[in-house]
Amino acid sequence: MEKKQQVVVIGGGPAGLAAAGQLQSFGLDVVLIEKQAQVGGHLNKWYKVFPDFTPAEEIVAHLKSQLGNTRVLTNTTVTAISGEAPDFSITTSSGEQIPAAAILIATGYKHFDARLKEEYGYGIYDNCITSVELDAMLKENKIRTLQGKIPKKIALAHCVGSRDEKVNNNYCSRVCCTNAVKLAIEIKEQLPESEIYCLYMDIRVFGRTYEELYRTSQEEFGIQFIRGRLSEASEKPDGSLVLRFEDTLTARPMRLSVDLLILMVGMEANTELAEIARLPLGCDRFYATLHGQYANNHSHREGIFLAGTATGPKAIMESITDGRSAAAAILSFLMQKAKGMEVKVPTLV
Ligand SMILES: Cc1cc2nc3c(=O)[nH]c(=O)nc-3n(C[C@H](O)[C@H](O)[C@H](O)COP(=O)(O)OP(=O)(O)OC[C@H]3O[C@@H](n4cnc5c(N)ncnc54)[C@H](O)[C@@H]3O)c2cc1C
Ligand code: SF4
Repeated sequence: MEKKQQVVVIGGGPAGLAAAGQLQSFGLDVVLIEKQAQVGGHLNKWYKVFPDFTPAEEIVAHLKSQLGNTRVLTNTTVTAISGEAPDFSITTSSGEQIPAAAILIATGYKHFDARLKEEYGYGIYDNCITSVELDAMLKENKIRTLQGKIPKKIALAHCVGSRDEKVNNNYCSRVCCTNAVKLAIEIKEQLPESEIYCLYMDIRVFGRTYEELYRTSQEEFGIQFIRGRLSEASEKPDGSLVLRFEDTLTARPMRLSVDLLILMVGMEANTELAEIARLPLGCDRFYATLHGQYANNHSHREGIFLAGTATGPKAIMESITDGRSAAAAILSFLMQKAKGMEVKVPTLV
């Protein structure tokens, strides 16, 4: 490439951080735009992450250390994108115009709003919390009921807001089964006397070493897995909860009293830039990629690329790898443009 070209990465979670680090190592100028005050994305909320209990802050620190000369704009978002590749102009929320030869959208996901599953009682019953809130308790080493007691019986309900036609989310969020296994182990480590039940539809522990973690949770930690979807929770005067569900292996209705109910909330699309970037969405409302097999980092617009959970649920390692793969796709695009070549998109070769 003759002159240095600038790439704008929008979103500073694991995918955006990994992409920015890789792009600057290729010798490109990189601007990273992050809406929040800190980069790190959802990792800033996690304590230790599956499958290996690495502290989330260690991963963020590592990705930040790879940013080199990347210009990082925090507390900033994008209000307009004009022009076409390789001459985009991005307007930020602070009014700055930033030129970009290519753009990467790595704006991640949102958590499912557990209040939409009213029958589980989130926001109504004190001792019904989400997996995100449990992570904060684990970080403080202080798992307590709202009444300040150490919970003895704890249930984790899988698939909250995922695989559920009623909330229009038919897809599997992919990470919450393994996250439940990890959380159950962590609870048992902090509260060895507790009884822990996972209520699941199917167990989907798809990644390397995930199955082993699932086995360990049963064999070493005594976590009990019950196949059945929670139908409703109700509160007793002492603040504990009665859970009703069908054990789908025996086809029998079941009741379980617990001190704390954890809802394993799934992922939903964050496509707030779809209109600004003029990008289509898939049937799951995540950004559509150009081709599901060959062009997963290409959007439907030349010069605009996608990475991480912006295109669907992924674990951290997958998001990082996807960010780096997007960086390679961007480099290839810019090299072809710089040579005046017709850009070859993987679907069209
Ligand atoms: C409950 C739960 C627990 C999890 N635990 C684990 C685990 O233990 N192990 C594991 O491997 N995975 C885990 N995951 C998955 C992990 O959180 C994701 O893989 C990872 O966060 C995805 O990274 P990302 O960069 O795609 O998105 P995000 O982490 O969502 O980051 C996106 C970033 O973009 C920013 N952004 C959004 N919109 C804009 C905008 N318009 N302008 C500028 N910036 C914007 C956001 O502020 C954010 O910083 C978990 C997921 C959930 C739901
Ligand atoms: S990963 Fe497990 S808990 Fe999450 S949606 Fe899929 S099956 Fe349900």
